[in-house]
Amino acid sequence: MREQVPRGIIQPHQTRGDVRETCDVVVMGSGAGGAAAAATLAEAGLDVLVLEEGAFHRTSEYGANATAMFSALMRDGGATATIGRAPVPYMEGRCVGGSTVINGGMCWRTPEDVLDHWAGAMGLPDLAPAALDPLFDEVEATINARYQDPGSEGGNNEVFRRGAEKLGWKYQRNKRNQIHCVGSNECVTGCPSGAKQSTVYSWLPRVFARGGRLMTHCKVTKVLVERGRAVGLAGTLDDPHRRRKFVVRAKAVVLAGGAVQTPLLMLRNKIAPKNEHVGRHFTIHPNIKVAALFEDRVESMRGVHQAYQCTEFKKRGILLAPGGIPLMFTAVAFSDFGRRLAERMRDYHHIATGGVLVDDFSSGRIMAPLGIPLVKYDVTDIDQEKFVEAAGLLATLYFAAGAKEVYLPFHGYPVLKSVDDVKKLHDHMPRVEDTEYFTAHLMGSCRMHGDPRQGVVGPDGQCWDLPGLYLADASVMPGTIGVNPQVTIMALARLIALRLADKLQRRAAA
Ligand SMILES: Cc1cc2nc3c(=O)[nH]c(=O)nc-3n(C[C@H](O)[C@H](O)[C@H](O)COP(=O)(O)OP(=O)(O)OC[C@H]3O[C@@H](n4cnc5c(N)ncnc54)[C@H](O)[C@@H]3O)c2cc1C
Ligand code: SF4
Repeated sequence: MREQVPRGIIQPHQTRGDVRETCDVVVMGSGAGGAAAAATLAEAGLDVLVLEEGAFHRTSEYGANATAMFSALMRDGGATATIGRAPVPYMEGRCVGGSTVINGGMCWRTPEDVLDHWAGAMGLPDLAPAALDPLFDEVEATINARYQDPGSEGGNNEVFRRGAEKLGWKYQRNKRNQIHCVGSNECVTGCPSGAKQSTVYSWLPRVFARGGRLMTHCKVTKVLVERGRAVGLAGTLDDPHRRRKFVVRAKAVVLAGGAVQTPLLMLRNKIAPKNEHVGRHFTIHPNIKVAALFEDRVESMRGVHQAYQCTEFKKRGILLAPGGIPLMFTAVAFSDFGRRLAERMRDYHHIATGGVLVDDFSSGRIMAPLGIPLVKYDVTDIDQEKFVEAAGLLATLYFAAGAKEVYLPFHGYPVLKSVDDVKKLHDHMPRVEDTEYFTAHLMGSCRMHGDPRQGVVGPDGQCWDLPGLYLADASVMPGTIGVNPQVTIMALARLIALRLADKLQRRAAA
């Protein structure tokens, strides 16, 4: 039987002409932040309308065809990168569910020392560990954050675990938002079995159960402002037959387009033009990949992308993790080209891949000169030293697990043949410009801060400079967190939505 489109989702063929709507709260975006906020508001009895630029895709449409899936699920087909000393490719989900449809499903709470810093130095006492704990519990229950079923981990995770154990390095099992994930390693192109609990399966059904609605193909281009207050959103409805317009008026407006799109919309609309923090403090947890050749077959394509993380070096801002890269991307794990690359790819079944993630000292900036998006980020030499150290640590782990060779993502750098070669890494420090980076964690570009002179939104998520405008996505994160961010984003979005619901209810009762 053909899978039903959930009731509550409104697609272009269900409306005619230009669309005019009113509701209590209009939410831009249905990813981690937008969906969690929308569910919280709908459950408080408010009339909620979510506007999503992307399309709705049934589970049966997800699959490993990267070309088709990247253009269906991602902005610009996933071909996006920061500009700076070295480009850092990134991806943004653009579909119902946003980036939660294409993410790896790893679930980590914000580390306590980070929350203590936010609560103290940044003037946000409501983000203290004790205050956020109940929200983390609710988020984890909603998205089914749990350990993998036995047998779903596969060889790539196994060699990583073996290496960490041989060295006596601390490692932890990942919780992931999944129900009986079989470890098919296709998360980035949408989970074809429906195991991964993206917001399509977790938060959005709660919106629809309370009568909330979601309109697809609606690209927000304008924040409506009247008498110094945000009163709605407007934009274009991308009907395949003809481009239409929509206008939605509401008592409150929530932006949750992600850490790049939210500040872009604000900059293009000249919202808070005097607030110099819009688009700044943008952090990305850059990471690099390391590959290792083993005598035995590893079969990194079978088994979940990442079942463990090595936290031995967490205090130094370094996280090591396995990362099973689907075949079509494995070539980018090597810094070789031509015949050499072909030879490496021939050994695909024997290759393990992993990555290192560092807490970045650097921060970038989202800009919109003449309305054109510009995402600027420079990896600093201090961060580069950490990357080189971390790559050496991961190489050491793979040698301990029995690797014959290790390949690093530094152009022109020789293949490491033994753990002794790792020591030479610091003699010829690879340059930022010669390093292949990647990021999946975009954060902090409209940060929350207790001081109006230091941030874009206050503790309640409301824009310091525009009443009625709330932000509830990765852009509000007060700083970098050193772990995967979706649980943090959902908890913050829920906190912001709870406060907003309370405010609207009190206003209605007055
Ligand atoms: C490949 C990949 C792997 C990842 N793996 C993990 C992981 O394992 N664990 C983890 O915790 N995190 C992971 N992340 C990060 C995590 O998914 C994101 O941090 C999180 O989804 C961001 O939430 P958000 O609400 O800010 O934005 P998103 O989830 O990206 O949602 C934004 C939504 O807004 C919509 N939108 C944007 N602009 C407009 C507009 N103008 N009009 C209408 N709609 C608009 C977009 O289409 C999108 O649906 C990963 C991300 C990627 C890309
Ligand atoms: S690894 Fe698990 S969650 Fe990811 S696509 Fe496969 S079954 Fe789905």
